[in-house]
Amino acid sequence: MKYLNIIFLLFIFTDCRPILSKETKDIPLAGEGIYAFLRRNNRDATNDYEAFIKLNKDKLGRDNSLLKGTSYTLPTLSDNKRKQEDPQPKIESNSKIKKEPLFGKQYENYTIKSGKLKGTCFYLSSGHGGPDPGAIGYVDGHELHEHEYAYDITLRLARCLLEEGAMVHIIVQHPTHGIRDDRYLKNSRRSTCMGETMPLNQLKRLQQRSDKINSLVRQTKADYKRAIFIHVDSRSKKKQLDVFFYYAKNSKGGKKLANTMRETFASHYDKHQPNRGFSGTVSMRELYVLSNTTPVALYAELGNIQNSFDQRRFLDPNNRQALANWMCRGLIRDYENSK
Ligand SMILES: [Zn+2]
Repeated sequence: MKYLNIIFLLFIFTDCRPILSKETKDIPLAGEGIYAFLRRNNRDATNDYEAFIKLNKDKLGRDNSLLKGTSYTLPTLSDNKRKQEDPQPKIESNSKIKKEPLFGKQYENYTIKSGKLKGTCFYLSSGHGGPDPGAIGYVDGHELHEHEYAYDITLRLARCLLEEGAMVHIIVQHPTHGIRDDRYLKNSRRSTCMGETMPLNQLKRLQQRSDKINSLVRQTKADYKRAIFIHVDSRSKKKQLDVFFYYAKNSKGGKKLANTMRETFASHYDKHQPNRGFSGTVSMRELYVLSNTTPVALYAELGNIQNSFDQRRFLDPNNRQALANWMCRGLIRDYENSK
C-alpha cells in the first residue's frame, strides 16, 4: 500500500507539475533535501536556496533538513521565468494532449502521436527577428519579410516534432503571432529571444541566441540534440532556388544531417513534382550561429523570397506546412540513423 502511495504521489507530481509549480507550498518526498525539493518544484536550486531558508526558517530540522509531512513555502517564480528555466517543459506529463500557446489559438493544442523522437531535444531558431526583418520581397503591394515566413515554418516544424515525442525549444518567439494560415503574413518587430529583447547590433543578436541555445544544452540530458536555423534567402528576382542546407566546419554530424535532409526533400519532390527535379545542395559554411553553438546544427535556406516561383512556396500555408513536415521527416531519419 505504501508503495502504491508513492507511485501515486510520483504520478501526481510528474503529471501536474506545471500546475503545482504555480502553487507556493509543497511537502517533501521521503529523503528529499532542500536542493532536490527545489529542483522538483521547478526552482533554481542554487539561486532560490537562500530565499527558501528565509521563508521556512521556523520549520527546518537540524542542519536545515526538511521534516516529513511538513508543508514548506516555495520562493515565487514568474511564469516567464518558469518557462525559460524549465529545460523539459514538453514531455513531463503523461497526458497525450498538450498545449503550446506560442502556436496561437488555432494550433496551441496538439497530440503526441508517436514516440519516434522520444529522448531527442531540438533548438529551433528562425532567422532574424526583433529589429531585423531579414530579406524583403514584394508581391501585389505586399511586403514579405523573411523573418515572418521563417518563423511560421519554424513553429510548424516545432509542432510536428512535438507530435513525434521530441522535446523542443523555440528560441525566437513572438508573443502573439502563432501559426498563421494567411498568405500575407503581417510584419512585426516584437519577437524576442525567449522573452529577452533583441539587441540592435546584428552580431550581438546572433550571440544572444547562440548563448541561449548553449545554456539550454547544458541543462539537457538528451543524447540526441540538434540546433536548426531556418531562413529564406534573398537573391536576384530571376533566380529560382531550391532548398540549401549548410553545416558547420568539421561537423560530421551536421554534414550527415544536411545530406539526410537533402535526400528527404529530393524524394518528396520526386513524388509531388516529378518533372521538376530537385537541385537543393549541401555545403559547409562558416556562419556565426553554426560556429558558435554546441549541438550538431543545420542551417536551412528555404528559397528565394524575391523569385515569384519560390514565393508561391511561402505564400501558400499548405506549402509552408509541407516544408515543415519534410524537415520533420528528415530529422526523424537522422535520429534513426544515429542510433
Ligand atoms: Zn536570413
